[in-house]
Amino acid sequence: MKNVMSLRCTICGAEYGANEVDYVCPHHGNDGILDVVYDYDRIRREVSPETLAARPERSIWRYLPLLPVDPEVARHLAEGTVLGSVGWTPLYPAPRLAHGLGLRHLWVKDDSRQPTASFKDRASAVAVVKARERGAEVVTTASTGNAAAALAGLSAAVGQRTVIFVPRTAPPAKVAQLLAFGATVLLVDGTYDQAFDLCLEASAAFGWYNRNTAYNPYMSEGKKTAAYEICEQLAAQTGSPAPFRPPDVILIPVGDGCIIGGIHKGLRDLAALGWIERMPRLIGVQAEGSSPLVDAWERGLEGWEMVPVEAHSVADSIVAGLPRDRIKALRAVRETGGAFLRVSDEEILAAIPALARGCGVFAEPAAAAAYAGLVKAVERGLVGAEEQVVVLATGSGLKDVASVMKATGQPLTVAPDLEDVRRALAKESEGR
Ligand SMILES: *Cc1c(COP(=O)(O)O)cnc(C)c1O
Ligand SMILES: [Zn+2]
Repeated sequence: MKNVMSLRCTICGAEYGANEVDYVCPHHGNDGILDVVYDYDRIRREVSPETLAARPERSIWRYLPLLPVDPEVARHLAEGTVLGSVGWTPLYPAPRLAHGLGLRHLWVKDDSRQPTASFKDRASAVAVVKARERGAEVVTTASTGNAAAALAGLSAAVGQRTVIFVPRTAPPAKVAQLLAFGATVLLVDGTYDQAFDLCLEASAAFGWYNRNTAYNPYMSEGKKTAAYEICEQLAAQTGSPAPFRPPDVILIPVGDGCIIGGIHKGLRDLAALGWIERMPRLIGVQAEGSSPLVDAWERGLEGWEMVPVEAHSVADSIVAGLPRDRIKALRAVRETGGAFLRVSDEEILAAIPALARGCGVFAEPAAAAAYAGLVKAVERGLVGAEEQVVVLATGSGLKDVASVMKATGQPLTVAPDLEDVRRALAKESEGR
Protein backbone atom coordinates (compact mmCIF):
# COMPACT_ATOMS: atom_id res chain seq x y z
CA MET A 1 0.00 0.00 0.00
CA LYS A 2 3.00 2.30 0.36
CA ASN A 3 2.76 3.15 -3.35
CA VAL A 4 -0.82 4.45 -2.93
CA MET A 5 -1.00 8.20 -2.23
CA SER A 6 -4.74 8.72 -1.87
CA LEU A 7 -8.27 7.87 -2.96
CA ARG A 8 -9.79 10.64 -5.11
CA CYS A 9 -13.53 11.18 -5.65
CA THR A 10 -14.47 10.94 -9.34
CA ILE A 11 -17.15 13.61 -8.80
CA CYS A 12 -15.64 16.33 -6.57
CA GLY A 13 -11.93 15.48 -6.67
CA ALA A 14 -11.63 15.39 -2.85
CA GLU A 15 -8.75 13.16 -1.72
CA TYR A 16 -8.75 10.77 1.22
CA GLY A 17 -6.11 8.62 2.84
CA ALA A 18 -6.46 4.92 2.12
CA ASN A 19 -7.08 4.33 5.84
CA GLU A 20 -9.60 7.16 6.06
CA VAL A 21 -12.40 5.72 3.89
CA ASP A 22 -13.17 2.16 2.81
CA TYR A 23 -15.46 2.61 -0.16
CA VAL A 24 -16.96 5.89 -1.47
CA CYS A 25 -16.65 9.69 -1.03
CA PRO A 26 -18.61 10.60 2.11
CA HIS A 27 -19.96 13.72 0.35
CA HIS A 28 -21.40 11.86 -2.62
CA GLY A 29 -22.74 8.64 -1.14
CA ASN A 30 -22.76 5.57 -3.34
CA ASP A 31 -22.16 7.63 -6.51
CA GLY A 32 -18.91 9.03 -5.13
CA ILE A 33 -16.71 6.35 -6.61
CA LEU A 34 -13.06 6.73 -5.74
CA ASP A 35 -10.02 6.45 -7.96
CA VAL A 36 -6.80 5.10 -6.43
CA VAL A 37 -3.94 7.59 -6.88
CA TYR A 38 -0.38 6.24 -6.98
CA ASP A 39 3.01 7.71 -6.23
CA TYR A 40 4.50 7.10 -9.67
CA ASP A 41 7.92 8.50 -8.74
CA ARG A 42 8.18 5.99 -5.95
CA ILE A 43 7.02 3.13 -8.23
CA ARG A 44 9.59 4.15 -10.86
CA ARG A 45 12.32 3.91 -8.23
CA GLU A 46 11.11 0.45 -7.22
CA VAL A 47 10.69 -1.12 -10.68
CA SER A 48 11.53 -0.44 -14.30
CA PRO A 49 9.60 -1.87 -17.26
CA GLU A 50 12.55 -4.21 -17.79
CA THR A 51 12.69 -5.55 -14.20
CA LEU A 52 8.91 -5.93 -14.22
CA ALA A 53 8.91 -7.85 -17.49
CA ALA A 54 11.64 -10.11 -16.10
CA ARG A 55 9.61 -11.13 -13.03
CA PRO A 56 8.89 -14.86 -12.83
CA GLU A 57 5.21 -14.63 -11.77
CA ARG A 58 2.83 -15.53 -14.59
CA SER A 59 -0.19 -13.98 -12.87
CA ILE A 60 -1.57 -10.57 -11.88
CA TRP A 61 0.87 -10.64 -8.96
CA ARG A 62 3.80 -9.85 -11.27
CA TYR A 63 2.42 -6.28 -11.10
CA LEU A 64 2.40 -6.16 -7.28
CA PRO A 65 4.18 -2.76 -7.06
CA LEU A 66 1.24 -1.29 -9.04
CA LEU A 67 -1.49 -2.91 -6.94
CA PRO A 68 -3.18 -1.36 -3.86
CA VAL A 69 -2.51 -4.27 -1.53
CA ASP A 70 -0.10 -5.21 1.22
CA PRO A 71 2.47 -7.23 -0.79
CA GLU A 72 3.18 -9.57 2.13
CA VAL A 73 -0.50 -10.49 2.56
CA ALA A 74 -0.93 -10.95 -1.19
CA ARG A 75 2.17 -13.14 -1.54
CA HIS A 76 1.18 -15.25 1.43
CA LEU A 77 -2.35 -15.89 0.11
CA ALA A 78 -1.29 -16.44 -3.50
CA GLU A 79 1.53 -18.87 -2.72
CA GLY A 80 0.49 -22.32 -3.94
CA THR A 81 -3.22 -21.48 -4.16
CA VAL A 82 -5.74 -20.81 -6.94
CA LEU A 83 -5.37 -17.13 -6.05
CA GLY A 84 -1.83 -17.36 -7.41
CA SER A 85 -3.00 -18.32 -10.90
CA VAL A 86 -5.29 -15.37 -11.60
CA GLY A 87 -4.31 -13.44 -14.72
CA TRP A 88 -1.62 -13.77 -17.40
CA THR A 89 -4.21 -15.21 -19.75
CA PRO A 90 -3.24 -15.88 -23.38
CA LEU A 91 -3.30 -13.19 -26.07
CA TYR A 92 -4.01 -15.15 -29.25
CA PRO A 93 -3.34 -13.79 -32.74
CA ALA A 94 -6.52 -14.39 -34.77
CA PRO A 95 -5.48 -14.20 -38.44
CA ARG A 96 -8.54 -16.03 -39.86
CA LEU A 97 -10.97 -13.77 -38.02
CA ALA A 98 -8.89 -10.76 -39.09
CA HIS A 99 -8.97 -11.84 -42.72
CA GLY A 100 -12.75 -12.28 -42.64
CA LEU A 101 -13.13 -8.70 -41.40
CA GLY A 102 -10.57 -7.15 -43.76
CA LEU A 103 -8.13 -6.48 -40.89
CA ARG A 104 -4.45 -7.39 -40.70
CA HIS A 105 -3.65 -7.46 -36.99
CA LEU A 106 -6.19 -8.90 -34.60
CA TRP A 107 -5.74 -10.55 -31.19
CA VAL A 108 -8.15 -12.13 -28.73
CA LYS A 109 -7.32 -11.78 -25.01
CA ASP A 110 -8.80 -14.94 -23.54
CA ASP A 111 -10.05 -14.37 -20.01
CA SER A 112 -12.35 -17.36 -20.24
CA ARG A 113 -9.15 -19.09 -19.08
CA GLN A 114 -9.24 -17.57 -15.60
CA PRO A 115 -9.60 -19.99 -12.62
CA THR A 116 -13.38 -19.42 -12.32
CA ALA A 117 -13.73 -18.82 -16.08
CA SER A 118 -14.26 -15.07 -16.22
CA PHE A 119 -12.40 -11.76 -16.17
CA LYS A 120 -13.90 -11.06 -12.71
CA ASP A 121 -11.17 -13.14 -11.06
CA ARG A 122 -8.83 -10.16 -11.53
CA ALA A 123 -10.98 -7.99 -9.27
CA SER A 124 -12.10 -10.65 -6.81
CA ALA A 125 -8.46 -11.63 -6.22
CA VAL A 126 -7.80 -8.11 -4.95
CA ALA A 127 -11.00 -8.22 -2.84
CA VAL A 128 -9.85 -11.41 -1.13
CA VAL A 129 -6.54 -9.79 -0.20
CA LYS A 130 -8.24 -6.58 1.03
CA ALA A 131 -10.65 -8.62 3.15
CA ARG A 132 -7.74 -10.46 4.76
CA GLU A 133 -5.88 -7.17 5.38
CA ARG A 134 -8.95 -5.97 7.27
CA GLY A 135 -9.45 -9.25 9.09
CA ALA A 136 -13.03 -9.48 7.75
CA GLU A 137 -14.96 -12.58 8.76
CA VAL A 138 -17.25 -12.41 5.75
CA VAL A 139 -16.84 -10.96 2.25
CA THR A 140 -19.97 -10.22 0.28
CA THR A 141 -20.92 -9.10 -3.21
CA ALA A 142 -23.88 -8.59 -5.47
CA SER A 143 -23.32 -9.79 -8.98
CA THR A 144 -24.99 -10.92 -12.18
CA GLY A 145 -23.02 -14.13 -11.51
CA ASN A 146 -19.38 -13.97 -12.59
CA ALA A 147 -18.09 -11.56 -9.95
CA ALA A 148 -19.78 -13.74 -7.35
CA ALA A 149 -18.36 -16.98 -8.76
CA ALA A 150 -14.93 -15.36 -8.77
CA LEU A 151 -15.25 -14.15 -5.19
CA ALA A 152 -16.64 -17.47 -3.96
CA GLY A 153 -13.98 -19.52 -5.75
CA LEU A 154 -10.96 -17.44 -4.77
CA SER A 155 -12.27 -17.15 -1.20
CA ALA A 156 -12.69 -20.92 -1.02
CA ALA A 157 -9.06 -21.23 -2.11
CA VAL A 158 -7.91 -19.41 1.03
CA GLY A 159 -10.69 -20.48 3.45
CA GLN A 160 -12.60 -17.17 3.50
CA ARG A 161 -16.40 -17.11 4.13
CA THR A 162 -18.65 -15.43 1.53
CA VAL A 163 -22.28 -14.32 1.29
CA ILE A 164 -23.51 -13.74 -2.25
CA PHE A 165 -26.50 -11.82 -3.67
CA VAL A 166 -27.46 -12.71 -7.26
CA PRO A 167 -30.66 -12.07 -9.21
CA ARG A 168 -32.94 -15.11 -9.35
CA THR A 169 -32.47 -15.13 -13.15
CA ALA A 170 -28.69 -15.80 -13.04
CA PRO A 171 -27.65 -18.69 -15.37
CA PRO A 172 -27.59 -22.04 -13.50
CA ALA A 173 -23.88 -22.72 -14.17
CA LYS A 174 -22.92 -19.55 -12.29
CA VAL A 175 -25.19 -20.46 -9.36
CA ALA A 176 -23.74 -23.99 -9.36
CA GLN A 177 -20.24 -22.55 -9.02
CA LEU A 178 -21.34 -20.48 -6.00
CA LEU A 179 -22.90 -23.45 -4.27
CA ALA A 180 -19.97 -25.76 -5.00
CA PHE A 181 -17.54 -23.20 -3.55
CA GLY A 182 -19.57 -23.14 -0.35
CA ALA A 183 -20.87 -19.56 -0.51
CA THR A 184 -24.06 -18.64 1.30
CA VAL A 185 -26.16 -17.88 -1.79
CA LEU A 186 -29.11 -15.50 -1.64
CA LEU A 187 -31.12 -15.48 -4.87
CA VAL A 188 -32.78 -12.08 -4.96
CA ASP A 189 -36.26 -11.97 -6.40
CA GLY A 190 -35.47 -8.79 -8.33
CA THR A 191 -32.97 -7.21 -10.70
CA TYR A 192 -29.18 -6.98 -10.39
CA ASP A 193 -29.61 -3.33 -9.44
CA GLN A 194 -31.86 -4.34 -6.53
CA ALA A 195 -29.47 -7.10 -5.47
CA PHE A 196 -26.67 -4.50 -5.48
CA ASP A 197 -28.53 -2.15 -3.11
CA LEU A 198 -29.58 -5.00 -0.84
CA CYS A 199 -25.98 -6.19 -0.58
CA LEU A 200 -24.85 -2.67 0.41
CA GLU A 201 -27.48 -2.57 3.16
CA ALA A 202 -26.54 -6.02 4.41
CA SER A 203 -22.81 -5.34 4.57
CA ALA A 204 -23.40 -2.09 6.48
CA ALA A 205 -25.77 -3.86 8.89
CA PHE A 206 -23.58 -6.92 9.50
CA GLY A 207 -20.08 -5.47 9.17
CA TRP A 208 -19.06 -7.57 6.16
CA TYR A 209 -16.36 -6.54 3.67
CA ASN A 210 -18.10 -5.45 0.45
CA ARG A 211 -16.74 -6.23 -3.02
CA ASN A 212 -19.54 -4.60 -5.03
CA THR A 213 -18.34 -3.41 -8.41
CA ALA A 214 -17.56 0.32 -8.55
CA TYR A 215 -18.59 0.81 -4.90
CA ASN A 216 -15.35 -0.87 -3.83
CA PRO A 217 -12.58 1.35 -5.28
CA TYR A 218 -10.06 -1.50 -5.53
CA MET A 219 -11.95 -3.59 -8.11
CA SER A 220 -10.84 -1.43 -11.07
CA GLU A 221 -7.31 -1.87 -9.79
CA GLY A 222 -7.52 -5.65 -10.20
CA LYS A 223 -9.13 -5.25 -13.61
CA LYS A 224 -6.42 -2.90 -14.86
CA THR A 225 -3.92 -5.78 -14.89
CA ALA A 226 -5.43 -6.92 -18.21
CA ALA A 227 -4.17 -3.68 -19.80
CA TYR A 228 -0.65 -4.32 -18.52
CA GLU A 229 -0.76 -7.88 -19.84
CA ILE A 230 -2.07 -6.85 -23.26
CA CYS A 231 0.74 -4.29 -23.67
CA GLU A 232 3.41 -6.68 -22.40
CA GLN A 233 2.25 -9.63 -24.50
CA LEU A 234 1.80 -7.48 -27.60
CA ALA A 235 5.35 -6.15 -27.20
CA ALA A 236 6.71 -9.70 -27.00
CA GLN A 237 4.67 -10.91 -29.99
CA THR A 238 5.51 -7.98 -32.26
CA GLY A 239 9.23 -7.91 -31.43
CA SER A 240 9.00 -4.47 -29.84
CA PRO A 241 12.25 -3.27 -28.21
CA ALA A 242 10.21 -1.72 -25.36
CA PRO A 243 8.69 -4.15 -22.81
CA PHE A 244 5.22 -2.56 -23.14
CA ARG A 245 3.49 -1.71 -26.39
CA PRO A 246 -0.14 -0.61 -26.71
CA PRO A 247 -2.42 -1.76 -29.54
CA ASP A 248 -4.40 0.86 -31.51
CA VAL A 249 -7.87 -0.25 -30.40
CA ILE A 250 -9.32 -2.45 -27.64
CA LEU A 251 -12.94 -3.70 -27.78
CA ILE A 252 -14.51 -4.27 -24.38
CA PRO A 253 -17.99 -5.51 -23.40
CA VAL A 254 -19.64 -3.06 -20.99
CA GLY A 255 -22.29 -3.51 -18.31
CA ASP A 256 -21.42 -1.55 -15.16
CA GLY A 257 -18.37 -0.09 -16.89
CA CYS A 258 -15.80 -1.30 -14.36
CA ILE A 259 -13.81 -3.37 -16.85
CA ILE A 260 -13.48 -0.55 -19.38
CA GLY A 261 -12.67 1.90 -16.56
CA GLY A 262 -10.08 -0.54 -15.23
CA ILE A 263 -8.45 -1.05 -18.62
CA HIS A 264 -8.26 2.73 -18.97
CA LYS A 265 -6.67 2.96 -15.51
CA GLY A 266 -4.02 0.40 -16.42
CA LEU A 267 -3.15 2.32 -19.57
CA ARG A 268 -3.08 5.62 -17.67
CA ASP A 269 -0.66 4.05 -15.17
CA LEU A 270 1.65 2.92 -17.98
CA ALA A 271 1.48 6.36 -19.63
CA ALA A 272 2.11 8.18 -16.33
CA LEU A 273 5.15 5.99 -15.71
CA GLY A 274 6.37 6.80 -19.22
CA TRP A 275 6.27 3.11 -20.19
CA ILE A 276 3.93 3.64 -23.16
CA GLU A 277 3.82 6.69 -25.39
CA ARG A 278 0.23 6.72 -26.61
CA MET A 279 -3.21 5.53 -25.59
CA PRO A 280 -5.23 2.97 -27.54
CA ARG A 281 -8.81 3.95 -28.38
CA LEU A 282 -11.23 2.08 -26.14
CA ILE A 283 -14.48 0.91 -27.76
CA GLY A 284 -17.19 -0.07 -25.28
CA VAL A 285 -19.81 -2.52 -26.52
CA GLN A 286 -23.27 -2.73 -24.92
CA ALA A 287 -26.29 -4.91 -25.63
CA GLU A 288 -29.11 -3.04 -27.39
CA GLY A 289 -31.54 -3.77 -24.52
CA SER A 290 -29.06 -2.47 -21.95
CA SER A 291 -27.24 0.46 -23.50
CA PRO A 292 -27.55 3.50 -21.22
CA LEU A 293 -23.85 4.33 -21.67
CA VAL A 294 -24.23 4.42 -25.45
CA ASP A 295 -27.16 6.83 -24.96
CA ALA A 296 -25.21 9.03 -22.55
CA TRP A 297 -22.20 9.08 -24.87
CA GLU A 298 -24.32 9.98 -27.91
CA ARG A 299 -26.16 12.71 -25.99
CA GLY A 300 -23.06 14.11 -24.30
CA LEU A 301 -24.32 13.41 -20.76
CA GLU A 302 -22.12 13.14 -17.68
CA GLY A 303 -22.29 10.05 -15.48
CA TRP A 304 -24.07 11.88 -12.67
CA GLU A 305 -26.83 13.04 -15.07
CA MET A 306 -27.84 9.48 -15.99
CA VAL A 307 -31.04 7.91 -14.62
CA PRO A 308 -31.90 4.20 -14.29
CA VAL A 309 -33.52 2.50 -17.29
CA GLU A 310 -35.16 -0.89 -17.66
CA ALA A 311 -32.51 -3.28 -19.00
CA HIS A 312 -32.54 -6.77 -20.54
CA SER A 313 -30.39 -8.90 -22.84
CA VAL A 314 -29.36 -12.49 -23.49
CA ALA A 315 -25.92 -11.31 -22.36
CA ASP A 316 -26.74 -11.37 -18.63
CA SER A 317 -23.27 -10.23 -17.54
CA ILE A 318 -23.70 -6.85 -19.24
CA VAL A 319 -27.25 -6.06 -18.12
CA ALA A 320 -27.19 -2.95 -15.92
CA GLY A 321 -29.96 -0.33 -15.89
CA LEU A 322 -27.76 2.22 -14.14
CA PRO A 323 -24.13 1.29 -14.77
CA ARG A 324 -22.38 1.67 -11.43
CA ASP A 325 -19.05 2.72 -12.92
CA ARG A 326 -20.59 5.07 -15.47
CA ILE A 327 -18.29 8.00 -14.65
CA LYS A 328 -15.12 5.99 -15.24
CA ALA A 329 -16.62 4.26 -18.30
CA LEU A 330 -17.54 7.53 -20.03
CA ARG A 331 -14.15 8.99 -19.16
CA ALA A 332 -12.39 5.92 -20.62
CA VAL A 333 -14.08 6.33 -23.99
CA ARG A 334 -13.96 10.14 -24.14
CA GLU A 335 -10.34 10.52 -23.05
CA THR A 336 -9.07 7.91 -25.51
CA GLY A 337 -11.12 9.12 -28.51
CA GLY A 338 -12.93 5.78 -28.58
CA ALA A 339 -16.63 5.03 -29.01
CA PHE A 340 -19.62 3.23 -27.53
CA LEU A 341 -21.57 0.80 -29.73
CA ARG A 342 -24.80 -1.21 -29.39
CA VAL A 343 -25.19 -4.77 -30.64
CA SER A 344 -28.45 -6.72 -30.79
CA ASP A 345 -29.03 -10.03 -29.02
CA GLU A 346 -29.06 -11.74 -32.46
CA GLU A 347 -25.66 -10.25 -33.27
CA ILE A 348 -24.35 -11.33 -29.85
CA LEU A 349 -25.57 -14.90 -30.28
CA ALA A 350 -24.16 -15.10 -33.81
CA ALA A 351 -20.80 -13.91 -32.49
CA ILE A 352 -20.46 -16.97 -30.19
CA PRO A 353 -19.93 -19.57 -32.96
CA ALA A 354 -18.11 -16.99 -35.12
CA LEU A 355 -15.49 -16.46 -32.42
CA ALA A 356 -15.35 -20.15 -31.47
CA ARG A 357 -14.87 -21.27 -35.11
CA GLY A 358 -12.58 -18.41 -36.06
CA CYS A 359 -10.02 -18.80 -33.27
CA GLY A 360 -11.11 -21.55 -30.87
CA VAL A 361 -12.21 -19.28 -28.02
CA PHE A 362 -15.55 -20.32 -26.48
CA ALA A 363 -17.25 -17.21 -25.10
CA GLU A 364 -20.39 -16.54 -23.09
CA PRO A 365 -22.81 -14.02 -24.65
CA ALA A 366 -21.39 -10.95 -22.87
CA ALA A 367 -17.88 -11.83 -24.01
CA ALA A 368 -18.99 -12.52 -27.58
CA ALA A 369 -20.58 -9.05 -27.57
CA ALA A 370 -17.08 -7.56 -27.86
CA TYR A 371 -16.53 -9.47 -31.09
CA ALA A 372 -19.99 -8.50 -32.36
CA GLY A 373 -18.93 -4.94 -31.60
CA LEU A 374 -15.79 -5.34 -33.68
CA VAL A 375 -17.86 -6.51 -36.66
CA LYS A 376 -19.97 -3.35 -36.28
CA ALA A 377 -16.97 -1.09 -35.72
CA VAL A 378 -15.39 -2.34 -38.95
CA GLU A 379 -18.68 -1.75 -40.85
CA ARG A 380 -18.79 1.79 -39.53
CA GLY A 381 -15.15 2.50 -40.37
CA LEU A 382 -14.22 2.99 -36.70
CA VAL A 383 -11.29 0.58 -37.06
CA GLY A 384 -8.69 0.86 -39.82
CA ALA A 385 -7.50 -2.16 -41.82
CA GLU A 386 -3.86 -1.69 -40.75
CA GLU A 387 -4.55 -1.08 -37.06
CA GLN A 388 -3.62 -3.44 -34.24
CA VAL A 389 -6.86 -4.52 -32.61
CA VAL A 390 -7.50 -6.49 -29.41
CA VAL A 391 -10.85 -8.05 -28.51
CA LEU A 392 -11.36 -8.84 -24.83
CA ALA A 393 -13.06 -12.22 -24.32
CA THR A 394 -14.29 -11.83 -20.76
CA GLY A 395 -16.02 -15.11 -19.91
CA SER A 396 -16.41 -18.76 -20.92
CA GLY A 397 -19.24 -20.21 -22.99
CA LEU A 398 -19.56 -22.94 -20.36
CA LYS A 399 -21.11 -20.30 -18.10
CA ASP A 400 -24.32 -20.22 -20.14
CA VAL A 401 -24.72 -23.24 -22.38
CA ALA A 402 -28.45 -22.63 -22.95
CA SER A 403 -27.69 -19.34 -24.71
CA VAL A 404 -24.94 -20.92 -26.77
CA MET A 405 -27.34 -23.61 -28.01
CA LYS A 406 -29.70 -20.89 -29.25
CA ALA A 407 -26.94 -19.84 -31.64
CA THR A 408 -25.64 -23.26 -32.67
CA GLY A 409 -28.83 -25.30 -33.11
CA GLN A 410 -28.99 -28.99 -32.24
CA PRO A 411 -26.51 -31.75 -33.23
CA LEU A 412 -27.36 -34.60 -35.60
CA THR A 413 -28.74 -37.80 -34.12
CA VAL A 414 -27.92 -41.20 -35.63
CA ALA A 415 -28.72 -44.85 -34.99
CA PRO A 416 -25.64 -46.94 -34.01
CA ASP A 417 -25.29 -47.85 -37.67
CA LEU A 418 -22.82 -46.73 -40.40
CA GLU A 419 -25.52 -46.36 -43.05
CA ASP A 420 -27.28 -43.89 -40.82
CA VAL A 421 -24.02 -41.95 -40.43
CA ARG A 422 -23.78 -41.74 -44.27
CA ARG A 423 -27.36 -40.48 -44.47
CA ALA A 424 -26.77 -37.91 -41.76
CA LEU A 425 -23.54 -36.62 -43.35
CA ALA A 426 -25.22 -36.35 -46.76
CA LYS A 427 -28.11 -34.45 -45.26
CA GLU A 428 -25.76 -32.14 -43.41
CA SER A 429 -23.72 -31.28 -46.52
CA GLU A 430 -27.00 -30.52 -48.36
CA GLY A 431 -27.82 -28.11 -45.57
CA ARG A 432 -24.49 -26.27 -45.93
C1 LIG B 1 -18.88 -8.33 -15.71
C2 LIG B 1 -18.71 -8.78 -17.09
C3 LIG B 1 -18.67 -7.87 -18.16
C4 LIG B 1 -18.87 -6.39 -18.00
O1 LIG B 1 -18.07 -5.76 -17.05
P1 LIG B 1 -18.53 -4.39 -16.39
O2 LIG B 1 -17.45 -4.01 -15.49
O3 LIG B 1 -19.82 -4.69 -15.67
O4 LIG B 1 -18.76 -3.42 -17.49
C5 LIG B 1 -18.45 -8.37 -19.42
N1 LIG B 1 -18.32 -9.69 -19.65
C6 LIG B 1 -18.37 -10.60 -18.66
C7 LIG B 1 -18.22 -12.04 -18.98
C8 LIG B 1 -18.57 -10.18 -17.34
O5 LIG B 1 -18.64 -11.08 -16.37
ZN1 LIG C 1 -16.98 13.59 -3.68
